Amino acid sequence: MLYKTCRDFAEAELKPNAAKYDRDHLYPGEAIKKMGDLGLMAIAVSEDYGGTGLDYLAYSIALEEISRGCASAGVIMSVNNSLYLGPVFGWGTDKQKQEYVTPFCNGDNVGCFALSEPGNGSDAGAASTVAKDDGDKWTLNGTKCWITNGYESKAAVVFATTDKKLKHKGISAFLVPKPIKGLELGKKEDKLGIRGSSTCSLIFEDCPLPKENILGEPGFGFKIAMMTLDAGRIGIASQALGIGQASLDVAMEYASKRIAFGKPIIKLQAIQQKIADMSLRLESARLLTWRAAFLKDNKQPYTKEAAMAKLAASEAATFASHQCIQVLGGMGYVSDMPAERHYRDARITEIYEGTSEIQRLVIAGQLIKEYGLS
Ligand SMILES: Cc1cc2nc3c(=O)[nH]c(=O)nc-3n(C[C@H](O)[C@H](O)[C@H](O)COP(=O)(O)OP(=O)(O)OC[C@H]3O[C@@H](n4cnc5c(N)ncnc54)[C@H](O)[C@@H]3O)c2cc1C
Repeated sequence: MLYKTCRDFAEAELKPNAAKYDRDHLYPGEAIKKMGDLGLMAIAVSEDYGGTGLDYLAYSIALEEISRGCASAGVIMSVNNSLYLGPVFGWGTDKQKQEYVTPFCNGDNVGCFALSEPGNGSDAGAASTVAKDDGDKWTLNGTKCWITNGYESKAAVVFATTDKKLKHKGISAFLVPKPIKGLELGKKEDKLGIRGSSTCSLIFEDCPLPKENILGEPGFGFKIAMMTLDAGRIGIASQALGIGQASLDVAMEYASKRIAFGKPIIKLQAIQQKIADMSLRLESARLLTWRAAFLKDNKQPYTKEAAMAKLAASEAATFASHQCIQVLGGMGYVSDMPAERHYRDARITEIYEGTSEIQRLVIAGQLIKEYGLS
């Protein structure tokens, strides 16, 4: 039922508008509100806090369908669900959840997650943003960059160092309402893809924050960030699957109609080889993604599986969108058809929430542990 609801919604509301969101850098606010009304903006939050009370497998299926319609709506949904609500719902006190979870469940508000900095992306433990203990408050200084939903979000989970000597063990997580004194937004980044979502820097200059706005224990921030990203990778894998599947759909339809040498090109074995490989890679990645979600839902370790899912799905999406352009020939290269947008949108899934290189390091690290070699 969820799959059908999301597919119908994406076909009716997202697919027809995705090119416009992309071309004009338009935030799909109305669609996000409707997604909130459908329960898609807080899928794994329990109903007593205003969420939908479903699991990560449901989230993965829903996010794939939304991203198949519009990858920008997909990333906005993914950040709100996994990167923002995930840690606040997981580590927040009851009071924090009332204030920072419930109002972010129905699409009225979205949140963001601020870990990356100009000087550190992959090396997230080297945070230079500082939260100073000033007795009755924290004072934040530093710059976070590449923050998805940076413009529209009404709150951020921000990671900052509270004890520099302890390196990554001295990082803490904070709940920052937006707007707030001492926080400026940087310029909206002009991106290759997912152009309907905003990405910008958050610049903190003597930003005062109530003492109670720390999320979890002091020094627990890096762990919160890493555990959040494990879950988030299931979301990005699902977003990638949606983009890859949309590419396969376009290729199939076009190849069945385009006539060359007297017959539809789908009859040519060279084209059949391409669509078979696209489907194979997507289906394999989908199974990995659902497996990671299943493990998470069953409270089993899933760090390796989430990294595998994200790596496989993002590379499958890049491959499928590349092949889709080839199947369409010249029509793949112009914006009259969605193939070139899928190609641009796919690329980010190999970069954010850990690049493909970092996913391989995570997988290898887990294997080394499994073999008892660490
Ligand atoms: C559109 C967009 C949205 C984003 N949204 C968010 C967000 O909402 N919140 C947030 O906190 N961040 C966000 N990010 C940041 C994103 O997570 C980082 O860009 C990403 O983690 C890579 O970091 P970096 O850009 O600093 O690259 P770098 O870390 O500088 O990496 C550059 C290259 O070196 C490679 N590399 C680095 N270290 C290693 C290593 N140890 N071994 C092998 N190769 C390595 C990388 O794989 C990459 O190829 C977003 C980024 C983009 C582009």
